[in-house]
Formats: sequence, C-alpha cells, structure tokens
Amino acid sequence: MSEAARCIRFTVAARTRGLGDDGVTAAASPVLLGNVETVESDARAAIDALNRIAFLLERTNEPTYRVRAFRKAATTLSGLPAGELRRRYDDGTLEELAGIGKVTAAVIGDAMRGETPSYLLALQDKAEVPIVAGGASLRAALQGDLHTHSDWSDGGSPIEEMMRAAIALGHSYVALTDHSPRLTVARGLSPDRLREQLAVVRRLNDELAPFRILTGIEVDILEDGSLDQEPALLAELDVVVASVHSKLRMPREDMTRRMVTAIANPHMDVLGHCTGRLVVGRGRPESEFDAEVVFEACRQFGVAVEINSRPERLDPPRRLLSLAVEMGCEFSIDTDAHAPGQLDWQPYGCARAEECGVPADRVINTKTADELLARRALR
Ligand SMILES: [Zn+2]
Ligand SMILES: [Zn+2]
Repeated sequence: MSEAARCIRFTVAARTRGLGDDGVTAAASPVLLGNVETVESDARAAIDALNRIAFLLERTNEPTYRVRAFRKAATTLSGLPAGELRRRYDDGTLEELAGIGKVTAAVIGDAMRGETPSYLLALQDKAEVPIVAGGASLRAALQGDLHTHSDWSDGGSPIEEMMRAAIALGHSYVALTDHSPRLTVARGLSPDRLREQLAVVRRLNDELAPFRILTGIEVDILEDGSLDQEPALLAELDVVVASVHSKLRMPREDMTRRMVTAIANPHMDVLGHCTGRLVVGRGRPESEFDAEVVFEACRQFGVAVEINSRPERLDPPRRLLSLAVEMGCEFSIDTDAHAPGQLDWQPYGCARAEECGVPADRVINTKTADELLARRALR
C-alpha cells in the first residue's frame, strides 16, 4: 500500500474513532463515514476523495457546477452493490456509470490504486493557506455555527453530509436553519415540512451524538415585522435566525419599525445579515434603517447581531459592526453555508469581528449548546 493510501486509511480510521479533526489538511473526508461497515475500503477511499475534492472546491467558492460533478459521482459510488466498483475499474467501464466522467473516473482510479488523486493533491496544497488573514483566536473559540441550509430548502447537500462536515471542522453543534414558507424561490419549509424535518433531526442526533444538530429556521421578517412561521413551532425550535429577504428598499423609518418589531418578538435569537447588501458581482446596496435604534433593540431583547461570513455578503459592514460593538450587542459569527465546504467560511467573519473589536465573550456561538439553550429559555 502506498504512503498516500496509508494516510487516507489511517485518517478514515482515526475519524471513525473520533480522533484528529483538523478538517482542512487531512487527506480524507469524513462525509459518508456513516456507511463505514457497508462500503468496501477501496470504494470508500474513492468516495472520500471525491467528497474531499468537493469540500475544498466549495471552500474556495468554486462555481457549483464544478463541485456538483464530484458530489454526484460520490453519490453514485455509494449506491453501488458490493464489488461493482472494483469490477468496473478492472474492466475500464467506470465512465458508463451515471455521473462519472473523465475527471471523476481518473480520481476514482487513483484512489482505487491507493494513491492520493493528483486532482486532490493540487487542492490540498492550496488548502494549507488560510482563506483570510486574522481572526484565528476567535475562530478557535467558536464551538458551532448557528446559520446553515440543507437541500430541504436552497442548500445543495443533505443534512447528514452538512453535519458530518461540521464534525470534521471540530464543531460541537450546528443549527440547521432552512428557509420559511414565503421564500418560495428558496423552497421555504411549510409548517408540516418543518415538523417532518424535526423528526429527521431527532433521528440524526441519536446517530451523531455527542455532536448536536440544533433545530432551527431562518425565518423571513415580513413587511409588518411579523415572523413567517407558526409561533408555536418557532417556540419549539432551538435557534431562530430572522432575516429580511423582501422589500429591501423600504423607506428607512418603515424598515426600522419592521426590524424592531421582529427583534421584540420573543422567538427571535439572531438577526441575520442585517443590511442585506451584496458586495460581489452587480452587488446590492444596504437596506436603510436607523442602526442605533435597531442595535439598541437587539441589546435590550437579547437578540444577537449576526456577523455573516459569506464572502458576497460580509454583513454588517465594518462601520455598523463597530457601532454594534460600542452599543453592547451580542453577536453570532455564522457561515450561512449552503454546502459542506462553505461551513469553513467562519474565518471571514472572525477576521472582520477581530478588526472591529468584537470580544469573544460577546459571541454567542463560543458558548456550549446547553448554555445557548439556557439563554433561549430565559428569553
Ligand atoms: Zn438569508
Ligand atoms: Zn441563510
């Protein structure tokens, strides 16, 4: 067995035993380790390599179509009956499988021979370099992420894949916060689908313990400041992120009233991407509101101001972030990840938080899950 193969197998074994979680530099992905007993080891090496490539591409914000090929190939492989992958590899018919092309077949071939695929090697070299300078001590203090999406709404991956990637990053918990009903473009969850999701999360939590999926939602703040989900259901969730996704250009006074009404709602925990701005491509200007009034409401009602780490958002902008620090607000540094590799975007938010003087003890996701839930129970 080659050195690289030994490395992959060792890492897989270590992860299976719950050891070593650097999440960035390791050769193998822990995603799909749940199938550890049912997938043969060479097939698993190939699946891990494909998922690891996808993770690293997502982490560097490569276009979804490039990433999808690798995730699709991994899914195809995990559905194959025992022995078929080896047979096809020997016959040279890998590319006849749905979703396997030239590039993915080459990756699979390398992994089956016990080598680290050359495609993966090149990406791993890049992964050694931090995605952003600064924020390292804050990042190290974070225990989880309170804003993520799965393929139940507009995310690209199943809940389990997201959560296994979070475990590999060293998180102890992640809040699953798919969209609410009115956000139809993002397949927002009706009350019934959310209830269905809660049952799925319960089952997964049994499997993934001690890691914990916090139940949650990214609920739309409607035009009148009400939240777009049944209040009883919101009360049942562990984490409620509330965000403005519509009528972003509302007059300043109306927007201030809308946001403060939501913040005063006892079900809300985190104010998501408060200005709604987009800073790449054509971009989108910030919504206008009286930031002092909004942040004062956050402070008074114990709602954390989200520091959204997505590179196209980086919301709030520095001047507002500094204002919220000065006003005594609490924060939540979240990725708003829509794919596993995006869970590794927290350093973007941490770097900005550090620049603006956010103290670690005012970042709520430096707390344990139990502390977070106790905090919610007090609201
Ligand atoms: Zn949002
Ligand atoms: Zn979101």
